[in-house]
Amino acid sequence: MIAHRFAWLIHHPGEAELPGLLAHECDNPLCQNPTHLHPSDPGANRREWAARRHRIGGPLRDVRGARERALAVRAALLLGLDIGDALDAGLRPVDAGQGTLFDPP
Ligand SMILES: [Zn+2]
Repeated sequence: MIAHRFAWLIHHPGEAELPGLLAHECDNPLCQNPTHLHPSDPGANRREWAARRHRIGGPLRDVRGARERALAVRAALLLGLDIGDALDAGLRPVDAGQGTLFDPP
């Protein structure tokens, strides 16, 4: 059983069966937080993924891809390094330095 599906079952003990598809909202393969999951279907999952794919600085824009990004985060955790630096290392040049609307000056 895939770990995030197992996490869903633990977090929803009263449910008789797993949803057919669980969408993962944070796009971090290492994440097993059940609050980041929701039941979905293939069409909705594709639409949500397409919307997240263009989010500046989002994990789907990481130039390393999901697997290499996850490995970089795992390595940073194991070495006690800053996770933010590991995440920022995969930013596209156009994404780097982009603040949010509410960043302090
Ligand atoms: Zn997550």
